[in-house]
This record gives sequence, C-alpha cells and structure tokens, in this order.
Amino acid sequence: MKLNELPQTNWRLASRAQRMNPSFIREILKVTERPGIISFAGGLPSPKTFPVAAFQEACAKVLRDDGQAALQYAASEGYGPLREMVAAMLPWQVDPAQVLITTGSQQGLDLVAKVLVDAGSRILVETPTYLGALQAFAPMEPEVIGVASDAGGLDLDDLSRQATDARFLYVLPNFQNPTGRTMSEDRRAALSQRAAALGLPIVEDNPYGELWFDAAPPPPLTSRNPEGCVYLGSFSKVLAPSLRLGFMVAPAALYPKLLQAKQAADLHTPGFNQRVAAEVMKESFLARHVPAIRSLYKSQRDAMLAALAREMQGLSLEWNAPDGGMFLWARLPQGMDAIELLPKAVAQGVAFVPGAPFYAQQADSRSLRLSFVTATVEQIDAGIAALAASIRAYARE
Ligand code: PMP
Repeated sequence: MKLNELPQTNWRLASRAQRMNPSFIREILKVTERPGIISFAGGLPSPKTFPVAAFQEACAKVLRDDGQAALQYAASEGYGPLREMVAAMLPWQVDPAQVLITTGSQQGLDLVAKVLVDAGSRILVETPTYLGALQAFAPMEPEVIGVASDAGGLDLDDLSRQATDARFLYVLPNFQNPTGRTMSEDRRAALSQRAAALGLPIVEDNPYGELWFDAAPPPPLTSRNPEGCVYLGSFSKVLAPSLRLGFMVAPAALYPKLLQAKQAADLHTPGFNQRVAAEVMKESFLARHVPAIRSLYKSQRDAMLAALAREMQGLSLEWNAPDGGMFLWARLPQGMDAIELLPKAVAQGVAFVPGAPFYAQQADSRSLRLSFVTATVEQIDAGIAALAASIRAYARE
C-alpha cells in the first residue's frame, strides 16, 4: 500500500482539549510583529532590562565549575541553593522545603489546577483576571466564577456570596495583569480574614510585586496565612522570561501532591537554568538590578500618562495610573467596543489588547490593556497619538 492509500486515522480529541483555545493575545502579537506597528499589546518585559553580561559570565562559570552536574537530570523540587535564595527573598518566614521551583509561574497555575480542580469544581477569580490563568485552569473543566472587583480589588461581600464549595480563589494583589491595580493594606487584611472565615484557600500570583515605582506594596496575602495560601512567584520580570523560572511556596498539606504533579509534568525545571540564575543572583544582584527596572518602567508609565492626558482631550477615555508593574487599563467612551477599535488602531500603526478575553464571565467590552514597558518614550508619544486618532475616527462612524 502506498502512503496515500492508507485508511484515514481517527484522531478523537479529549473533551479537555476542546476547551483549549488559541490565546487571543498571541494572535494579536502576530499582528504587532508587522514592521512599523507600535505595540502596547504584549506582556513582554523590556529587553533592555535583561542582564546579558551577567548571564554570559554565570553560564561560563557554571559550566566550568559544575558542568556535569548542571547538565544531568536533577531533583523535582528544584536546585537547593535556588530554593534557599527564594525562601530568603520572601518577606515572611519560609522554609526552603516549602519551595518548589517551577518552569515559569505559568506551570504553577497548571499544577495548582491539576491538584485542586475536578471537572465542575468552582474556582473564583477577580474581574478581570490574568488570561493565562484562565487558560491554565480550563483543561481541568472548572466552573470559573468572576468575583465583582473595583479599583482596589475584590468585593468581599460578593466573594462571600460566591465562595460556597469553591476550591480556591485566584488573586493578583500587586500591579495586576491586566488592570495594573493593587490591593490596599486594608483590603488585604479584610480579604485574608474573610477567606480564613470561609475556609477558602487562596492561590496568590505575584510576578510583578518587585516592580513598584514609589513605595513597595503591602505584604502578600500568603504572609498573613501561609497554611491557607499557595504563593506563585517568577523570575521572568526581574531576570528574563526565557529562563522559564518560577516558584511556588506551598503549605505542607499540599506540597507532596504538587511535587508529584510537577514530576509527572516535566520531571524538573531545567537544572542548568536554575544554576545559572542562582549564580547571577548571588551577592545581592537583584538589589542592584531591580531598582534600574523600576526606574525605567516608572519613566515609561509617566510618559504614557502624559501622552494620554495630552492626546485624549475631549475623548472621554478613562484610564488608571498604576503604581508599578507593566500595564495600564483604559475604558473607551460609551458605545465603543475595544475589539472593534483594534483593526482601526492597527491601521493607524498602533496595537493594544482588548480587555474582553480577561473576563471569566460577562466582559466589559469597552476596556483595554496598554503595556507601557516595551515601547520607547518616543514610540509611546507617537502610539498614543495614533490611538487617539483611531478613537476619533471610530467616534465619527
Ligand atoms: N501570572 C501572571 C499574572 C502573568 O502576567 C504571567 C506572565 N505574563 C505569569 C503568571 C507567567 O509568568 P512566567 O511563567 O513567565 O513566570
């Protein structure tokens, strides 16, 4: 039989695979890669912040001093010295034995869902929330409930109404993706108490917490109740995302199961990357490096706020002023839809991410996310002017 005469293979997709969708953002990123487009769309850190020289030196040193071990299979928990560094970095008492090094914090979301979610389980998220978390949770076939949220974070009364039987609450208290908002100290204290009273576990995701501009945000929720929370952290925004290095801090009740899930998923996080990152970070590297990221991002946020104030006059666009992180959240005038605006903006040479995909349930179709970190100040000025022109053109239709 020739190849093209073989009977057709019957590939049958699992129901979980049918719940997987291409990321809306990745689709948009393809558009923004066209030459000449100024992109406020991606969630990419500024490549200017990547410490290339430090990595070059650290790679050479790891290979020279420890090459064979660095290239061998390794423990699923992660590289010991890196786990110790993570524990020491965090602002509450953490035993390195509670730290699990993950292949990006994105893997932490996947492992949490695998270990805690059955088909039909309720999980609670903010409104809106991180799209990548919705994607990571979806294959476990949960019922995802968006808890009402305001500029300060979750509405605790709505949380209490929705919490019955929920497996966990997924929450981003610092410079949230997508809104850039931060939860106040009072709201954190109240949320921590409310969740404990409800017996509701918390999954706290904090990839942006170090990227504050004027003052550090209040302490993490996990520091208030370490046995009631899983904490997810990342090196993507303070070192480099291509390392795919993140971590979880898990209570004793959960750690062994998360470790088994990690083992099944990929045996361990690349040992070479872990050793190189640990080598780069020794001798307080981050204490010198992260302030430079903060001041770069702060100047870019300021440039975007100034450009918005200048260009959007008379347009009734609303926007917030995040105290850190990478994103700003805006809302179009009544009657406009950010998904409809996008092709008009791209035609003017600028891209952003419509807010709708970040909502677990009812979306606010007027909302959109603007990243202020990857474009230069000149591009921010030109891009916001182009965005204003596209909104004006849309308003005239
Ligand atoms: N959580 C949030 C809120 C994010 O914005 C991101 C990255 N976009 C991640 C997790 C995943 O980060 P990483 O896997 O690179 O650590």
